[in-house]
Amino acid sequence: MLGVYVHLPFCAYLCPYCDFAKWPLRASTARRYFEALSAEIALEPRAAAATLYLGGGTPNAYDRETIVQLLGALQDRFGFTAERSIEINPELVRDGDLPSYREAGITRVSIGVQSFEPDEIRTLGRKHTGEMVERVVDAARTAEMDSVSLDLMYGVPGQTPATWERSLRRAMNLRVDHISAYGLTVEENTPYAAWRAREPAAFFDDEREAELYALAIDLLQADGYDQYEVSNFARPGHQCAHNLNYWANGEYLGLGVGAASYRDGVRSVHTRALEEYVAAARDGRPIPSEAECLQGRRRAGEAMMLALRTVQGVRLADFKERYGIDVIETYDPVVTQLAQTGLLERTADALRLTRHGRFLANDVCGAFITFE
Ligand code: SF4
Repeated sequence: MLGVYVHLPFCAYLCPYCDFAKWPLRASTARRYFEALSAEIALEPRAAAATLYLGGGTPNAYDRETIVQLLGALQDRFGFTAERSIEINPELVRDGDLPSYREAGITRVSIGVQSFEPDEIRTLGRKHTGEMVERVVDAARTAEMDSVSLDLMYGVPGQTPATWERSLRRAMNLRVDHISAYGLTVEENTPYAAWRAREPAAFFDDEREAELYALAIDLLQADGYDQYEVSNFARPGHQCAHNLNYWANGEYLGLGVGAASYRDGVRSVHTRALEEYVAAARDGRPIPSEAECLQGRRRAGEAMMLALRTVQGVRLADFKERYGIDVIETYDPVVTQLAQTGLLERTADALRLTRHGRFLANDVCGAFITFE
C-alpha cells in the first residue's frame, strides 16, 4: 500500500515549542509555494495510492478553494482508494470549509487542540477556545466525516493531573473517534529550549510526565478508546490507516518542503529550505533531498522500531518472512536486557512494549537501530 503525505507549511502564528518545517503565513509566499507544490505533483508519475494525509504547518491556513483545487490534482494523480485526512487548526475553520473538504474527498479531520485549559493554551502560544473546538467537531459531524480526531498534549508547563484529566474528559465528552496524546518534547533551537535552559523547574521530569501518560491510558481505555500505538487511541474502526502504514514499514511518498518518502527501500527527505524547494519545484528540477538506502540489518532495525510503537508489537513469524530475520535470535542481548528491565515483553507470537516501555518508546525502539 502507498500513502501520500503533502506538507502545507504555513501557520497563522508560530507556536514556541514547534520545530516542524513551518513559516508564518504571508499570502504571496503561500501562493508561490502552492504553485511550486502543484508543479511537483504534476511531474510525479501516476501511481495507485490508498491514503492521503495533508499535514503541516496548518493546511487550513490556505483558503478552502485552494485546498479543494489541491485535492482534485492529487486525486487525479493517485486515485486514493481509502482514508484522506487533513490537519486543521480550529481557530481558522470558516463556515462551509468542512462540507467543501468532504465533497472534495476528505474523510478524516485531525484537529490540533493540545489543551482545553485557557492557561495551558496560552502557555503553548495558541489561541483557540474549547467552544471553538466544540463547534468544529459539530461541523465535522454535520459534514459526515468518517473520522474526527483530536490531538492533545501532556507535560505542558503548569499542567497538573487535574487539568490534564479535564482536557481528556472534554475530548471524550465530544465523542470524537480518535485521540492522539503526545508528550511535550522540547526541541533544540526553539523558544521552549531557551525557556527550559532559564527555568528547568518549569518542565516535567520523566516520572511526573509518566503519571500523566498513565492517566491518559487509563481514562481513554475505560471510555472505549483502544490504544493502538504509543500516542494513539481510537474507537473500533477508527485507527488512522495512513499512520498504520508508516508503522508497518509501508511505502509512502512525501510532497512539499521537508517531506519524507520511503519507496523501493530508499528513504529520502526533501530540503527544509523553503526557497530552495520552491525554486526547484517551480523549475521542474529534482527537489534537493537527502537519501539513504535501507538494507539488511538497518532495514530490519527500522522496521522493528516502527512495529514496536504499535500495541500489537512485532509479529515474529511475519517479520521473519518479510525480512528473513529471527528477531529473538538476532537481537537476543537487547531483547533480554529490555525484558529484564520490564520494558519489553514476549508473547507466544510477538514482541511488544510493556505499558511502562510505551512511555520510554523512543529509547527502547532506538536500541534496535543502534544494535550491530
Ligand atoms: S500550528 Fe502546528 S505547525 Fe504551526 S507552529 Fe503551531 S504547532 Fe507548529
